[in-house]
Amino acid sequence: MRFTFVTLFEGLVRGYFGDSILKRGVEKGLLRYDFVNPRDYAKNRHKKVDDTAAGGGAGMVMMPQPLDDALAAVRAASAGAHIVFPSPVGKPFTQKDARRLAKMEHLVFVSGRYEGIDERVIERWADELFSIGDYVLTGGELPSLVMCDAVARLVPGVLGNAESLSAESFETPLLEAPMFTRPKSFHKLSIPSEYLKGNHSKINALKKRLALAKTKYFRPDLYLKFTQRDYDEKSLY
Ligand code: SAM
Repeated sequence: MRFTFVTLFEGLVRGYFGDSILKRGVEKGLLRYDFVNPRDYAKNRHKKVDDTAAGGGAGMVMMPQPLDDALAAVRAASAGAHIVFPSPVGKPFTQKDARRLAKMEHLVFVSGRYEGIDERVIERWADELFSIGDYVLTGGELPSLVMCDAVARLVPGVLGNAESLSAESFETPLLEAPMFTRPKSFHKLSIPSEYLKGNHSKINALKKRLALAKTKYFRPDLYLKFTQRDYDEKSLY
């Protein structure tokens, strides 16, 4: 799968591919990534990419020409590219979106900076707009990486153990049950004894109860949804 990051600050993104899972995904030939800098497409003398906001107001806006030309070049080279704009006004990005995007061949993330991007560029090129939460960041690089990471780990072969995905939070209607590793006792806190007895149906039953309790406590909204729907309990684990 290919990721293209349209950004003024390539260095902010590049580092994330230098280690761990994404690095291995690239080394295995499952992932590739590249960059497009809108500044390279600026036709004005000083390679400016921002301008004052029409109608007044604080801050600068990413002007249309450089970004529009950059995206035209991306599309011309890759007709099937799916273009995503991170934006606080987008729909909330979810695991379901990550799963859907993981089936695409080429994802393009367009990072805004300053007060944002001239709306006409968004209108012309956005296949989707996603927000990663109800807060405002200084630029689209982190949201692009957040989405890229969520998508990349779903690309077959990228994670060593694909089974670990199936019980994860948001892959089932409940949050994932607590997990533990050695030692059995740590600062006088023990692992629930059932986890250590090797009876998998009992372990699963306990995990289900713990997942329910955790979801009820941390995400009452998800818990309510769960209780209102007729889920097949066996499908949870
Ligand atoms: N003026 C914009 C507003 O109030 O909606 C905020 C612009 S923000 C300072 C600059 C860029 O950061 C945005 O164009 C977008 O690319 C990115 N960004 C900031 N917060 C985000 C969020 N919660 N989700 C996704 N992208 C975000």
